[in-house]
Amino acid sequence: MNQKELEKYAALALEKGVNIQKGQGLIINAPIEASDLVRTISAKAYGKGAKNVHVEWSDEVLTFLKMKNAPESVLENFPKWKADGLVEMVKDGYSLLTVYGPNPDLLKDVSSDRVAKANKASGEALKTYREFIMNDKTTWSIVAYPQQAWAQKVFPDAEPKEAQSKLWNQIKYITRIDQEDPIKAWDEHNAKLRQAREYLNQKQYKKLHYKGPGTDLSIELVQNHIWHGGSTQSQEGTEFNPNMPTEEVFTMPHKYGVQGTVSSTKPLAYGGNLIENFTLTFENGKVVDFTAEAGEDTLKHLLESDDGAKRLGEVALVPDESPISQSGHIFFNTLYDENASCHLALGKAYPTNIEGGSSLDETQMDTQGVNDSLIHEDFMMGSSELDIDGETHDGQFEPIFRKGSWAIDFNEGSE
Ligand code: ZN
Ligand code: ZN
Repeated sequence: MNQKELEKYAALALEKGVNIQKGQGLIINAPIEASDLVRTISAKAYGKGAKNVHVEWSDEVLTFLKMKNAPESVLENFPKWKADGLVEMVKDGYSLLTVYGPNPDLLKDVSSDRVAKANKASGEALKTYREFIMNDKTTWSIVAYPQQAWAQKVFPDAEPKEAQSKLWNQIKYITRIDQEDPIKAWDEHNAKLRQAREYLNQKQYKKLHYKGPGTDLSIELVQNHIWHGGSTQSQEGTEFNPNMPTEEVFTMPHKYGVQGTVSSTKPLAYGGNLIENFTLTFENGKVVDFTAEAGEDTLKHLLESDDGAKRLGEVALVPDESPISQSGHIFFNTLYDENASCHLALGKAYPTNIEGGSSLDETQMDTQGVNDSLIHEDFMMGSSELDIDGETHDGQFEPIFRKGSWAIDFNEGSE
């Protein structure tokens, strides 16, 4: 990673990612391994008039030691001062940038019970903070960093340094920073995603029907659902890209309206463990049965996080020709893998995916089918063999995906 590339990446994260504004503060969550990128981003952020850059460093070695050794009473207590501090900053309009590239196997030798307890505690403690993010009350974004352990998982046959540079090359290609003008490339990309979401918003399908190997699933969408994809706007009206990369358009499933079975098509890295080749069977929106070839215990804990963890909060469409899918790699990292594949999320729905969603109270959320949970976990179920139909309100079926790709000519829908 040379400095010039880091500068390009930092500029993209600040301009098209969080879109930092003059006078605004910035929180960066990052692993210490990414200090070169974080310092470059910070310098640029101040250059753009940011008033403060606050970095929350993490260190996987220390995380592992704590998860392995600390008494459960410590894992079950996420520090309140830390959660309060984050809330204080987002209330003051701070933007949030997460730099992300975890070792997917970090906690495989720690009991999944301990990991689940720690995840639950942080989920509960950070509830208010997450509400800010999931309602787009401020701008936020996630970018990846090629940490060594992650790189070695993706390229197991390469020497450590070589693996890291291979992964960095993939990140450059997928985030378009290898292009002459990445900002322009992102503007064009966002325009395409806008076309797809506007078409689907106009259609207002009642249900989506999925058919693929091991998958036969129907998903009712909530009434007045909104498809999002690409750039979006914060409540203050600042345009930003929550994920870099992003290839999806996504909306809200009805929490009581999912029937059938879905099979995963890529491993899910969750809490330092991998869940592989799993199936979920839904009745009236709720997971009533599940299997997994690996990580079944972790999946069980994930589903048992709370009531909403057994229901869906997101349905996302990604064509198989996305650059990540075409790279042919499995990244063991949801930010990358979810953008290579149609996916669904267990847990909390984004309130922005339904009209007026940010002002619904708990009862209204429930009657309209908006799922709530402390977790939101995407899992991949798309492939080049997946077909999806949209069911209209008068019961017609229209093809949306055939063999993993769009079956729609978007220009037709705008008449
Ligand atoms: Zn998604
Ligand atoms: Zn998601």
